[in-house]
Amino acid sequence: MAAAGERRGEPQHQDFVGEAEGDDAAAHRENVGVVVLAREPRRVEVVAERGADARNFVRGDLFALSAPAEHDAALGPALRDRAADADADWRIVHRFFAVRAVIVDGVPERRQRLFEMFLQREARVIGANRDAHGQRLYYVRDMPPSVVISARGEERLRDGHPWIYRADVADIRAHAGDVVLVRGARARHLGHALYSDRSQIALRMLAYGTALGDVDDIDRRADALIRQRLEAAIAFRASLGIDATAYRLVHGEADLLPSLIVDKYGDYLVVQALSQAMDRRLPAIVAALDDLLKPRGILARNDPRARTLEGLEQRVDVLAGDIPDTVTVSEVGIEYDVDVRRGQKTGLFLDQRENRAAAAQYARGRLLDAFSYNGGFALVLGRRCQETIAIDVSEDAIARVRTNAARNGVAVDARVGNVFDELRGMERLGERFDTIVLDPPAFAKNKAAVANAHVGYKEINLRAMKLLNPGGTLVTCSCSYHVNEADFAAIVYGAAIDAQAHVTVVEKRMQGRDHPVLLGVPETYYLKCFILRKLP
Ligand code: SAH
Repeated sequence: MAAAGERRGEPQHQDFVGEAEGDDAAAHRENVGVVVLAREPRRVEVVAERGADARNFVRGDLFALSAPAEHDAALGPALRDRAADADADWRIVHRFFAVRAVIVDGVPERRQRLFEMFLQREARVIGANRDAHGQRLYYVRDMPPSVVISARGEERLRDGHPWIYRADVADIRAHAGDVVLVRGARARHLGHALYSDRSQIALRMLAYGTALGDVDDIDRRADALIRQRLEAAIAFRASLGIDATAYRLVHGEADLLPSLIVDKYGDYLVVQALSQAMDRRLPAIVAALDDLLKPRGILARNDPRARTLEGLEQRVDVLAGDIPDTVTVSEVGIEYDVDVRRGQKTGLFLDQRENRAAAAQYARGRLLDAFSYNGGFALVLGRRCQETIAIDVSEDAIARVRTNAARNGVAVDARVGNVFDELRGMERLGERFDTIVLDPPAFAKNKAAVANAHVGYKEINLRAMKLLNPGGTLVTCSCSYHVNEADFAAIVYGAAIDAQAHVTVVEKRMQGRDHPVLLGVPETYYLKCFILRKLP
């Protein structure tokens, strides 16, 4: 116990033990705490709220917290208030810790709250002498789950980043998926966070300081806060005048709803809960969304691989209403049939909507849409071009390009193929285009893949610049967070040098406004899109 006590901060022991003197012992009898003096002088350990499970008490795995005690007398006054039935606790304390203990009884509400910062809840009820005691005597009070973070973790929070990594967590009193009180040195309240017992991202901040209120009823308060943030996120999207019936309503961290995605597809919603705690809160989130938007159905696309890092299952579930096999949506004047159950991401690449519209202004002549998926760029730009070729390695995606092209009356030559091979083949054949779109998948899904990703981006950009007619437009994208904007610009520049082309940057773009970037959180800026012109 002593060792455990040493690791923790120093609560203001004087504040709570000393002042217990004046308390009314008769009142609040259930608010009982046990304070045990540790072996080291000048330290005290608060071991358990009375009512904590005595088995845990004797196993010594209860919350122990060290604090400076000026002298033993500081604990004396509380002794006078001890409950008549305090002996059982004494016995256990003596037997297993061989240290002196003090029962702090009759603690009024205000004092009790101070204790709550230091005391651990254990939900079972048993007497200290291992006989069952009455509920009244061993009243179990809910204690909030809490996590103490290191100085480095605090620094990250101060810099505005909502993630605390496992290495920066000093002490955990919480279960997987809890909303926890986050404390720093000297038990300072830093806020509340979503806790994961598996991910390297141990905490995702939900609220700072005392914004989530006091220690009680944290789950209900968290759900209320999440609902408020959903409302704000939805209202913001409504204000954007988005030219589409499908768009992102909630973009995780950037809407202060870490690890939560909500996309709208017409009358349907698709949600992703990418952490243990968001997953646990899904019922409340679904209820709030249902209430705020009255969708015809809500689907959980909880199949991203990121869920495995949280020890969560990859699954797809209808959470409310019905979800049809295909949902028809429109975007920038094009209609799509979307398979929200099986399509990539949540069905469409919604983050490219505004880039498609922007790129359309430059599109003309012969268009190549490389990595087309179901034809987003090909269809929007193709309306302005003489000939359109779309290439994707996925047969499913190409089948959808064909249906979507027919539905919208845009002629598209949709081909299943590997873009790397196809570009090489076209170069060999001396083909030329006036407009080329490169929208590959994230080549760098992690840091280890960055070097290879550079090679991949360089190759496709170099070939595209060679295939481009002078005066032509290249729309080139990267959605790898690990290749940042400057890196990507350098790669594209390198490609221009090798292609012996003078290339101007006409527009530097990013993901659409419904996927905003949170300053201080570079992870929320992942999609880069440059519109380039090859000078004649
Ligand atoms: N441009 C699309 C999104 C593209 S997502 C839009 O606006 O909606 C990336 C696409 O690249 C996926 O559809 C994937 O199937 C495809 N892909 C991945 N590797 C490929 C390769 N080597 N050759 C061709 N397509 C590839």
